[in-house]
Amino acid sequence: MTIRLYDTRAQALRDFEPLVEGKVGLYVCGPTVQSSPHIGHVRSALVYDILRRWLSYRGFDVTLVRNVTDIDDKVLANASESEHWWALAYRVELEFTAAYRAIGVLPPTYEPRATANVPQMHELIQRLIDSGHAYAAGDGSGDVYFDVRSWADYGALSHQSVNDMQDAADADPRGKRDPRDFALWKGRKDSEPASATWSSPWGPGRPGWHIECSAMSSRYLGPEFDIHGGGLDLRFPHHENELAQSAAAGDGFARYWVHNGLVHINGQKMSKSLGNSLYAAELLASAPPIVVRYALGQAHYRSIIDYTDRSLAEAAAAMERIEGFLSRSARRLEGTRFTSAELPVIPDEFAAAMDDDLSVPQALAVLHDTVREGNTALDSEDLQTAASARGKVVAMTRVLGIDPLAPEWNTTRDTAARAALDALVTRLLDDRQTARAAKDFTVADRIRDELVAAGITIEDTQTGAHWSIEGD
Ligand SMILES: [Zn+2]
Repeated sequence: MTIRLYDTRAQALRDFEPLVEGKVGLYVCGPTVQSSPHIGHVRSALVYDILRRWLSYRGFDVTLVRNVTDIDDKVLANASESEHWWALAYRVELEFTAAYRAIGVLPPTYEPRATANVPQMHELIQRLIDSGHAYAAGDGSGDVYFDVRSWADYGALSHQSVNDMQDAADADPRGKRDPRDFALWKGRKDSEPASATWSSPWGPGRPGWHIECSAMSSRYLGPEFDIHGGGLDLRFPHHENELAQSAAAGDGFARYWVHNGLVHINGQKMSKSLGNSLYAAELLASAPPIVVRYALGQAHYRSIIDYTDRSLAEAAAAMERIEGFLSRSARRLEGTRFTSAELPVIPDEFAAAMDDDLSVPQALAVLHDTVREGNTALDSEDLQTAASARGKVVAMTRVLGIDPLAPEWNTTRDTAARAALDALVTRLLDDRQTARAAKDFTVADRIRDELVAAGITIEDTQTGAHWSIEGD
């Protein structure tokens, strides 16, 4: 068994050889928590969830680190007088966590926040200054820049020559030796809140975006680790800059660079200016979470997903075929001696597809073929073959995270049902309060009686009415 992955730096498929036998260190760039998660964020997290599950199935002990960028230009720009930048960052972080959890993305092993790793960034910046690869701006801004001309390998990841690169638009260029130099540290500006300022050897300020990931990956995975993942849009400048600063500081950094393709909507790139962004909440309101997972996880991770109005319906039909076979075979096999043939076994062709650069489309073809074989076997009363097919389907759906019988989907349903119930009951309790305030006790009592009749207990307290379900 050899797993092959497409390495962006090598521009080729490479056999995966871990740094440490039996272990995988995987770093994935997490969200900048500036606004609600959209379909592209969810797809990216799902790609690395499937990779992680497959590596785990293959026996690797996987450490997945996915950071939270909770301080950045965009977080500050989206904060307001009524919502501090740190309150915004945390609120949005919770939205991301909820969206990931809803579609069955397993929590990362560690999820560091940038604001909790500033000393590690200082240490890395100092190493770069000491080795001549970074400099404090001469214009009194307090900025510190990476000197791209000092690093001959700059451009190695995105395969560009420095001279062809766009300028780094992250700071006022007047303090830079080269307009492509990028900020490691951003000196404090009067327009920015004091709460977004840390003291540093170069004056008060805050970290640049790229240095965050270099510092967090080495803190949690070591100076050299196996795989760095992220969306293709991060390859330049973000990942190029991460690689340059970590390598220039003497760290081995990532041995494999994996990038996932983006999501288009009805054939168009998704962008704020086009107004065609599709948010995770909209997706999850349109279909059960397992269908959303199937819809976004079925394509090859490197391909563009073209999401259309039909995508969820097609995914729902595919999931229905799988679930239909699992239910039908369960009913037919129950109580027969063939249930013992149901061992969950991954077919070799499925495994070969997954090993080959995580070829989920080919793997799903094996899954659907097996469902068809199983249904045919049930039609002809060949219960032995049906039971064997059932075992394979269970194993394949489990490793892809789309086993419709898995408890997480029930939990998700329960949680969603609970949230819906809470919204409805709270609304009724508000109506009751309004009626009481208007001294309309007939209406107030009727609402109360209806809720009690439905099995809901109401408790009036100083902070208002609280509800619970009897037996909770
Ligand atoms: Zn990053």
